[in-house]
Amino acid sequence: MNHAKIPYGRQSIDDEDIRAVVEVLKSDWITTGPLIEKFENAFALVVDAPYAVAFSSGTAALHAAMFALGITSGDEVIVPAMTFAATANCIVYQGGTPVFADVTPDNLLIDPDDVEKKITSKTRAIISVDYAGHPCDYDRLKTIARKNDLFLVEDACHALGAEYRGKKAGSLADLTAFSFHPVKHITTGEGGMVTTDDPDMAPRARIFRNHGITTDQRQRSEQGTWYYEMVELGYNYRITDFQCALGLSQLRKLPRWLTRRREIARRYDEAFKTFVGISLLNVHQDVTHAYHLYVVRLTSDGLKTNRKAIFTSLREAGIGVNVHYIPVHLHPFYRERFRTGPGLCPIAEAAYEQIISLPIFPGMSEDDVGTVIRAVRDATDSYSG
Ligand SMILES: *Cc1c(COP(=O)(O)O)cnc(C)c1O
Repeated sequence: MNHAKIPYGRQSIDDEDIRAVVEVLKSDWITTGPLIEKFENAFALVVDAPYAVAFSSGTAALHAAMFALGITSGDEVIVPAMTFAATANCIVYQGGTPVFADVTPDNLLIDPDDVEKKITSKTRAIISVDYAGHPCDYDRLKTIARKNDLFLVEDACHALGAEYRGKKAGSLADLTAFSFHPVKHITTGEGGMVTTDDPDMAPRARIFRNHGITTDQRQRSEQGTWYYEMVELGYNYRITDFQCALGLSQLRKLPRWLTRRREIARRYDEAFKTFVGISLLNVHQDVTHAYHLYVVRLTSDGLKTNRKAIFTSLREAGIGVNVHYIPVHLHPFYRERFRTGPGLCPIAEAAYEQIISLPIFPGMSEDDVGTVIRAVRDATDSYSG
């Protein structure tokens, strides 16, 4: 077993966070109490969105977005191949068909040209993924969506704090989903959020979270009534109050943490641009990157070996490298259910052979960053010409 001394990502929890959680645990409401709305309102302000609805996970938030749009069987939704499976799974939960679009070679974001090619009479929506924390080309995606009468959903699970042309991730698409898994920018253990500027979508997401019921238990208790109506088929996707207390406390540290992530990325950029056999992803001028991930490509020229050997030697050196992602259309479920497979998205497939995610998280020390850089140099040196 190789236990990574420096993981690729991890949460930062301090005494203030712990106190906030303990306080709620001692209160009357430990789930669906006053902290939910507080967290939602604070989050909405941070991402410049009129509405925010909290969920038990980022996956639940994506599912709610598909429900809010009314995605159902027979509908097609375009998703990038280079993402976590949950981005596509949420379409399948609603009976829809994910249609995989390829990514651009320079930064592995959904390719607007390929999106246009994959639109059919059944297409209802596009889900864009701000891979690694770099926002997609929203001007083009919005134009394509408008022209073809499609909804645009942003999977911003990597992109809390990112900006495209001065606009925050969370305010760019019809609906946006975030995740609060411990490796993401802020954590609630498990958790997620949907943001939107659409006054009709927000209540749809809200009732979906609670079985499709129009009032929650706290509202009924306050109004002194037992009556409620279930008007849609929803789920129990509720987040607890003590998780929202953690989320609120974490949110206050987001600006500092984003600064730290960007500092680490700058140090990596400076170091790796001189390394043989490593190439960096492109960062466009018009974005502010949130650096959920720091991904490099191990290119074959100059390197005698493949990504596997370098991955293994970094893991042996205690560096918790990872690979984000196996293209979704290559997973057995998608191959069997939707007849996808190799060749469908060649750029994502080729990138997958080369990419490796290096540690980046706010708690990393300058020494840790130096350790990673040295380990990468050693691992690539021993394999280069
Ligand atoms: C983390 C993540 C999700 C899922 O979020 P969970 O909170 O783990 O359910 C979805 N999409 C992307 C791109 C992610 O990184």
